[in-house]
Amino acid sequence: MARQAERIKEGVERGLADGRIVTEPPVRVKLDERREPLKRRTFLKSAAVAALTPGLKRSGVSGICRATEGKRIAFGGVQIECSTYSRIRTRMEDFTVKRGQELADEPFFSLLKAYPYPFHPTLLATAVPGGPVEQETYQELKAQFLRRVTALLPLDGLYLPMHGAMYVEGMQDAEGDWISAARQAVGKYCLITASFDLHGNLSRRVIDNLDMLSAFRTAPHIDREETAKRACEMLVYCLDQQIRPTLVWSPIPVLMPGERTSTLYEPAKHLWAQLPGMNAEAGVLDASLLVGYVWADEPRATASGVLTGTKPDLLKKDALSLAQQYWEARKEFKFNVPTGALSECIERAQRLDTKPVLISDSGDNPTGGGTGDRAEALTELLRHHVQNAVIAGIADRPATEACYRAGVGATLPLKIGGTLDPLGCKPVEVMAKVVFLLSTDNLPERQAVVEVSRISVVLTAKRRPFHEIRDFTALGLEPTRFKIVVVKAGYLVPEIAKIANPNLMALTDGAINQDIEHLPKSKYRVPSYPFVPDLRWTPFAVVGARSPGQAQS
Ligand SMILES: [Zn+2]
Repeated sequence: MARQAERIKEGVERGLADGRIVTEPPVRVKLDERREPLKRRTFLKSAAVAALTPGLKRSGVSGICRATEGKRIAFGGVQIECSTYSRIRTRMEDFTVKRGQELADEPFFSLLKAYPYPFHPTLLATAVPGGPVEQETYQELKAQFLRRVTALLPLDGLYLPMHGAMYVEGMQDAEGDWISAARQAVGKYCLITASFDLHGNLSRRVIDNLDMLSAFRTAPHIDREETAKRACEMLVYCLDQQIRPTLVWSPIPVLMPGERTSTLYEPAKHLWAQLPGMNAEAGVLDASLLVGYVWADEPRATASGVLTGTKPDLLKKDALSLAQQYWEARKEFKFNVPTGALSECIERAQRLDTKPVLISDSGDNPTGGGTGDRAEALTELLRHHVQNAVIAGIADRPATEACYRAGVGATLPLKIGGTLDPLGCKPVEVMAKVVFLLSTDNLPERQAVVEVSRISVVLTAKRRPFHEIRDFTALGLEPTRFKIVVVKAGYLVPEIAKIANPNLMALTDGAINQDIEHLPKSKYRVPSYPFVPDLRWTPFAVVGARSPGQAQS
């Protein structure tokens, strides 16, 4: 981290002449009459800080004293990826919500302790990707988040760890709504940084309310921590140096599934590989390239190049270069594992001498927004009389509960599949023997392993992925012993990819069907490749409204 901080520092200093120094005190909370009680609370809090902290000087703002040494930074947000093609809804009980100290104690956010200023926790709501978020749930989470942010005012900085592909019922650009509400709460002098998933969608509203942004640079995502650090180091550095950076965005009208844009393979590999080099340029604080999220029928759904820094011309040049390169590579994005219909993948696996053959049931992948309750894999394995296979897993609470009631060793009739989205698939009616029940007092965490004609099926009470070896071994399953392992996944995360011998991707139906050219007719998507195969386009760059020299800055 120290080396990166040095590089940021060097880059910023060398590019400083082009960055506007914020001459105003970095915190100046403007309060209107409707928020009078808040004004009083803010004043009292500041007065308390002044009384307790030595070395203060008067900022000259409304009589509020601010510590010059310390900066107040808050963090929190919402992370979910939602397929607008999903028929299920994401409700409050589907979110894991960490608030206050519980959020600060999250192991992931221990990285924030490396900075000289305390990061105050607000609220972070995370959920397994899925269907649209219920409007009421979203409004409640946003209100709770804003209440916590407001209670921490005045703030010098705000860090928003977001995903970027949330879809809320009846709302376009949910992150734009969340981030602009955060901006309204913290005021215009607070610097806001955000980290995004590489599959996040951006919008003018998002860019206009942020000061800086970093996105993952790997897919599968193995740089979550590094991305958060890049986002926070920029923030701390800009606060220290009193720099308001320029944020440049180049939306690229290309939409690809993550499974065709893994950074392990070309052309994504070389496109993303150049980002660290851009970061090292004087005047660049961060460079990001986002694939976007294809299963979002929204105008903002596109790929994006995003640059943060202090040299607007250089940032525009780099953003346009990324956009042009991505555009030129658009026809080269391909699946990097053999693909086929589910039955073709099973037949191919049966012909192979190797094991385990990992078959990805890609259309129903819950980590991409799939429902995770479909049972076609079981139907097909039975039809092909496969003798040594495991399916991990199928979300089916009624079947899971029935297994717990019956107990290990019992054989019982089960209807498996289609419980969350009955229109998605028909249940499979089988006789199943219960061979394992996960011991837990937490009902949603329940998992049962049943045997159906020598096929092991993992049933889960809630939607969840099986991406790690320990997900199997926790249930008494050793995945390498099976001839075929079916997982509801797109590309495999590195740990399970290591045992795939080989991996085949089944292009199955579901809420994140990989056959994107045949997705249901779009209502809102802007013309983009491959939906408009002969689209003509020239890159352009948008400068965020808060950037120096912009009308609203
Ligand atoms: Zn992602």
